[in-house]
Amino acid sequence: MPGLEDLYREIILDHYRSPRNRGQLEPPAVSAEGHNPLCGDEITVWLDVREGRVAEVRFSGSGCSISQSSASMMTSAIKGRPLDEVRAIVARFKQMMTVEEGADGAPEVPLGDLEALKGVVKFPVRIKCATLAWNTLIDALATAG
Ligand code: ZN
Repeated sequence: MPGLEDLYREIILDHYRSPRNRGQLEPPAVSAEGHNPLCGDEITVWLDVREGRVAEVRFSGSGCSISQSSASMMTSAIKGRPLDEVRAIVARFKQMMTVEEGADGAPEVPLGDLEALKGVVKFPVRIKCATLAWNTLIDALATAG
């Protein structure tokens, strides 16, 4: 019987091999670029916010499986959601990616497939891979106003 680690590895590989929401968006969508020089990961996040909701989101870039699958899972998690929910998911994910979980009381929102990235915390050099798309999303959200 496959254990939880195998399941998590499958989810990560599935998003890496079949990325969701990969591509670009035309204006008025905004974009932000992020780099993780430690690993060579690059992510651009494209965001189309309408009426306080993420109407469309895409990502492009290249890098390791953790960075690319995290971006794919992120776009799946936030697409169609109101901005306050998006911010709650971002806060919850970033809290999961810190060593002292529960330290800053992020909202308890279900993360679904994103839980698969929880094991990355055990490998501190990979945390920047997993959070790259999210930090880039935060920049894009700031640009979108
Ligand atoms: Zn990486």
